[in-house]
Amino acid sequence: MSEAVRVIYIMGAGRSGSTLLDTVLANHPEVVGVGELVNLHSAGWTSNEVCACGQLGTECSFWTRVREAWLRRVPQATVAGYVALQKRIEFYSGLGLLQITRMLRQRFSPTPEFREYLRQTEALYQAIAEVSGKSVVVDSSKHPLRGALLAHLKGIDLRLVHLVRDARAVTWSRKKALEADTKSGVQTAIKPRPAWYSVAYWAFVNVLSLIICLFRRRQSLRMRYEDFVAEPEAQLERLGRVCGLDYSATAQALLLGQPLKVEHPIAGNRMRMKGSVTLKPDWEWRERLPVRDRAVCWLCAGWLLLAFGYGWRDRRPKTARPPGSSWFASVWDFFACLSASSVPRP
Ligand SMILES: [Zn+2]
Repeated sequence: MSEAVRVIYIMGAGRSGSTLLDTVLANHPEVVGVGELVNLHSAGWTSNEVCACGQLGTECSFWTRVREAWLRRVPQATVAGYVALQKRIEFYSGLGLLQITRMLRQRFSPTPEFREYLRQTEALYQAIAEVSGKSVVVDSSKHPLRGALLAHLKGIDLRLVHLVRDARAVTWSRKKALEADTKSGVQTAIKPRPAWYSVAYWAFVNVLSLIICLFRRRQSLRMRYEDFVAEPEAQLERLGRVCGLDYSATAQALLLGQPLKVEHPIAGNRMRMKGSVTLKPDWEWRERLPVRDRAVCWLCAGWLLLAFGYGWRDRRPKTARPPGSSWFASVWDFFACLSASSVPRP
């Protein structure tokens, strides 16, 4: 495939609805959704976790053909070698300040190792496009740093979708423990997280995503989960404009409650294991999140909640800013939102 592969990269905090959005975007004839591609080599090809099709990562026919196509393009690569590069270049723990500093440095003077990692990553997207026969790949890995890294790839046409969900919903979701159940897509047990930890993580990831989008404002958009589930047609129209795709048929299918099929996302929320998804808003936090946790959210990240248009009380949301505005408009919008209202009731 000689043309640049278009990649729609979804970034934001975990539990923000990225698996749902990935599935919706993948239900377009020109698009393939691959879930959290960042975990393919480690979870899919090393730990042999289960693909959404029900096959093990090393047995799924789609991912087996992708691996063959990838190795044809970069014969010097190995799965273990790629994972080792990922650990040094892309993965981070804590605030990831070391990785952020390194990535900034690589922008001006890339090391041979960094160039090799970019080459192998670009080849992976090209292999997916070749095997799927689709020209657009949706990657919902979510890590903002990966968004910055993909911007280095000359062979892909990158579009960034910054998906935001109310910090209180994310906090509630992360308070729930999950038992390991590989068949239902939970590979390891998930421990409940305290509210302060979840909201600090939410704020950090979203601020980083905002900064990365500022550098690619014409090829990016910010979308709230709450707007997407309340008005999918309008939000898919916005998304389609930025991604160069017509999503009107998908929007109609969603409005009619038709199930959207899930094919081979290799990692992500357990929703991907159900074979299909329908648009079903999740407002559980409004009934279940304790008041003290809501207070923690406002104390730790109230300024950012307001900037994104959330409020303590629920009213109609501010209309989202259209993409492609100026730097000044982007910054102005960020601060102007401080007086914004909030999200609609279901
Ligand atoms: Zn599969």
